[in-house]
Amino acid sequence: MKRQSVKLKITLWLTLLMVLLFGLLLTFVLMISRSVVLQSARQQLSRTAMSNVGEISYENGTLTLSDDFKFYDNGVTTLIYSQKEARMAGQVPVAFQGEAPFVSGSLREVDGGQTVYLLLDLWVPSGWDTGVWQRALMAVPSASQTVRNLLLAAMLALPMFLLLASLGSWLILRRAFRPLDRINATAAAIGEAKDLSRRIGLPAGRDEFSSLAASFDQLFARLERSFEAETQFAADASHELRTPVAIIKSACEYGKEYDETREERQETLAMIHRQADAMSALISGLLTMTRLEQGTELPSMTQVELGQLTAELLEAAAYEGKDLRLQLDAGVTVRADPALLGRLIRNLVDNAAKFTPPGGQIQVIVTRNKKEALLIVRDNGIGIAPEHQEKIWQRFYQADPSRSSDHAGAGLGLAMVEQIARLHGGSMSLKSQPGQGSEFTLHLPG
Ligand code: ADP
Repeated sequence: MKRQSVKLKITLWLTLLMVLLFGLLLTFVLMISRSVVLQSARQQLSRTAMSNVGEISYENGTLTLSDDFKFYDNGVTTLIYSQKEARMAGQVPVAFQGEAPFVSGSLREVDGGQTVYLLLDLWVPSGWDTGVWQRALMAVPSASQTVRNLLLAAMLALPMFLLLASLGSWLILRRAFRPLDRINATAAAIGEAKDLSRRIGLPAGRDEFSSLAASFDQLFARLERSFEAETQFAADASHELRTPVAIIKSACEYGKEYDETREERQETLAMIHRQADAMSALISGLLTMTRLEQGTELPSMTQVELGQLTAELLEAAAYEGKDLRLQLDAGVTVRADPALLGRLIRNLVDNAAKFTPPGGQIQVIVTRNKKEALLIVRDNGIGIAPEHQEKIWQRFYQADPSRSSDHAGAGLGLAMVEQIARLHGGSMSLKSQPGQGSEFTLHLPG
């Protein structure tokens, strides 16, 4: 089927409606004016007939008409007929060719040939059984001049009026539909050019189109985010997996060539195992972050007692050679996803343990200030130089990769920590001095 624009359809419909309305209005005006004209003609006819009938006398076969008798008055013709219905006085109007039986006192419409006539017969008695007929006639006036002028004006005005009205509605509709055209064009451009960064960008308004455009923009933004997250995931994963895979490959080759003793083989296998562990941790970390970013893995929020959660996670944990101290205030509750929050705490404490030399101290504090719940992880380890402090939150950023290479980890931990804090409506802050230690604080609302 041919595609027809909604604008055209609405304009046509409105024009048709206007023609109909106009026609209806005109018919109504004509009907009213006709009935008014007819009514006043009837009154005129009766008045003349009644006044004339008083001026007739018929005595002993002689008809006498007084001076006030009028054969023609205001369009009314009066005729006198004998009892035998033979015309005695008056002139029949030329246009009246009809024949009508005499009926006294009934005002009726009679077809007079060319025009319709109003007719009123009155019996003028003389004595008991004689008398004459008075017949009053009047041509039913056609629509008056005013009505005729009105009709003419309407006929002339109608096309102008219709043209103006349909042009007006077309222009208004075109303006109203412009946002839709823009939505259409943007969607088509995204489809053709695969450019997800394009937006409709309608100014915020209160009509349906503005909210539709806003919803579309949100959808495009979401699509763009997930698309970017996917691309980022693929890029990060392939980049980061390259190193462990290369290490595993060369370990295998080396092992085939040179490992002679059982111990040597064990050592190579252990190295392969470590690299495989690192790969698997990397992939699962990346996957979690991507899912959280895309919104496919939504946090399931419940009321969490922060001190209790920290105690459950860390009381049984042992960090070899490190002195782990917990200082947990009771009654610090937040809305959080316990699994995600647990991952955040573990990441911070693991880092503190990794970057603190043997004999160092790790302090975990749960408390609150006036506005926020706070979780502080403090260590007296190697610290972080000021130039790295901003960057360590980025994916894969490691302040000192040579130092980190002996630890498992690929620089994803803090990026995930920051993402989890953000998902909970909170934030992370850091205070650190190289050589003295670091203090990571999670701020959560509530
Ligand atoms: P990873 O621990 O896998 O290297 P993270 O994202 O957890 O990755 O940390 C990024 C970098 O931040 C680390 O490589 C390290 O340089 C620095 N860092 C994190 N926590 C600490 C800490 N407690 N003390 C000193 N440096 C730290």
